[in-house]
Amino acid sequence: MTVFTGKLVWAVFLVLWGAIRFRYARRAFRNKPVSKHDEVYEIVLLALAFVGYLVVPAVYVATPWLSFANYPFQPLLFWIGVATMVVTLCLFWRSHADLGRNFSAKLVIRQTHGLVTTGVYRLIRHPMYTSFLLWSMMQVLLLPNWITGVAGVLGFCILYCARIRREEQLMLHKFGDEYREYMMHTKRLVPYIL
Ligand code: SAH
Repeated sequence: MTVFTGKLVWAVFLVLWGAIRFRYARRAFRNKPVSKHDEVYEIVLLALAFVGYLVVPAVYVATPWLSFANYPFQPLLFWIGVATMVVTLCLFWRSHADLGRNFSAKLVIRQTHGLVTTGVYRLIRHPMYTSFLLWSMMQVLLLPNWITGVAGVLGFCILYCARIRREEQLMLHKFGDEYREYMMHTKRLVPYIL
């Protein structure tokens, strides 16, 4: 195992992640939006997360520009990173499958928008964001570079701090007591804990 293997696994992850996203986003696309919320703010937010999760790691993988921030490759961390990758992809896939045509990258209410409280959503309200949290950890474990690691963690912090509360407000506005009740017996990201 070498630094190159870590970069390769990271690239494979991106392809698989992209394939899952493409498949389910295409399905949701047919369920047209009826209301969009804070669109410009949402675009800025997603662009910043994109930099942390994709642009910075891609620069690290493809160029020597960030090599001053490298640290030694550790096979143990690599293998924990691979395990984290598998869990990340499974959770990402399950949350897309359970959320179905209600999915949107930005804050949106769709034509036929039902509240999902089954599957992984029975345990936590934001499994897709949990998969992003795991992605940040995986980035730290697979790519031994401080800047790349910090960029992924910041990408998640941006999503967490700037998105979750507003999304829950929107769900409360749309589903009222049904969502309030759902909030009472679920956590946001980690079952029974957080
Ligand atoms: N925060 C969720 C969903 C991310 S997709 C997760 O992390 O798994 C974002 C869109 O999903 C939002 O625009 C919102 O309209 C919708 N959404 C969020 N939670 C939902 C739920 N429980 N049921 C139906 N739609 C939901």
